[in-house]
Amino acid sequence: MQNRLKQLKNINKKIGFVPTMGALHNGHLALIEQSKSPDTTTVCSIFVNPTQFNDKKDFEKYPVTIENDIYLLEKASTDILFIPAVDEIYPDGLATNFSYDLGYLETMLEGFYRPGHFQGVCRLMHKLLTIVQPDDLFMGQKDYQQCMVIKKLISIIGSKTILHTCPTLREKDGLAMSSRNTRLNEESRKKAPAIYETLNFLRKNIQTGNLQALKDEGRRKLEQKGFKVDYVEIADANNLELVNNYDGKQELVGLIAAFIQEVRLIDNMKLNIEN
Ligand code: AMP
Repeated sequence: MQNRLKQLKNINKKIGFVPTMGALHNGHLALIEQSKSPDTTTVCSIFVNPTQFNDKKDFEKYPVTIENDIYLLEKASTDILFIPAVDEIYPDGLATNFSYDLGYLETMLEGFYRPGHFQGVCRLMHKLLTIVQPDDLFMGQKDYQQCMVIKKLISIIGSKTILHTCPTLREKDGLAMSSRNTRLNEESRKKAPAIYETLNFLRKNIQTGNLQALKDEGRRKLEQKGFKVDYVEIADANNLELVNNYDGKQELVGLIAAFIQEVRLIDNMKLNIEN
């Protein structure tokens, strides 16, 4: 992989990189499209990263559809697909004492509800960035906090890679596309757009002052439909600090994580600026 990319860099090709866990959908393919240009080699990786799953069951049930992924990537004219094995990425095993100093980002929202998750994400991404050395990295706004973590990782490791955050692709009914959606049964799939509807509800009803009642109402809407809610939160879109009192000036993002039928879904939406 490194030899091949070195050859391409020698002929002045830029490297665009789209890391994924496979079970590809149009959200992933939109990232590939963003990367593509005549002077760019687009690399996609597929690696279901064991160190970022805090829930063993979630890891075991993560969908794997490699044949179809290859078909979709070929159709999208992706230049290189990188599918490393677990022991290539982690030759010394999965345990480690090392940790990245992610500060506040690791203690709240996804960091709080999925302990160790972002350390695993950073461990993998550090390796992938070292191997691929991309000029441009394309990731989805769907994983808003992850994008912030990766921005921080890039600065921690002193990488020159530029992170591009790409808009969330949605199904017709608003549900954010996600590999995990394939695990939903018919009934849950019908209910799942309630997350998007709740984000829209936050967006429409945001007012200066205390936001607690609005967040509580959002949570209630989801619980009524049978969701088990981890959080309905509103945060500063630039640093993800939680906002309880809106001063009318901050740029805000609404973020939700909730289970339906034991499948954990996340989504977010900018509340007072363009998404
Ligand atoms: P994953 O395979 O879920 O790890 O996602 C790989 C990349 O695709 C990440 O940067 C995600 O944020 C991005 N992604 C996932 N779902 C979507 C979506 N619906 N729209 C845009 N990007 C997405």
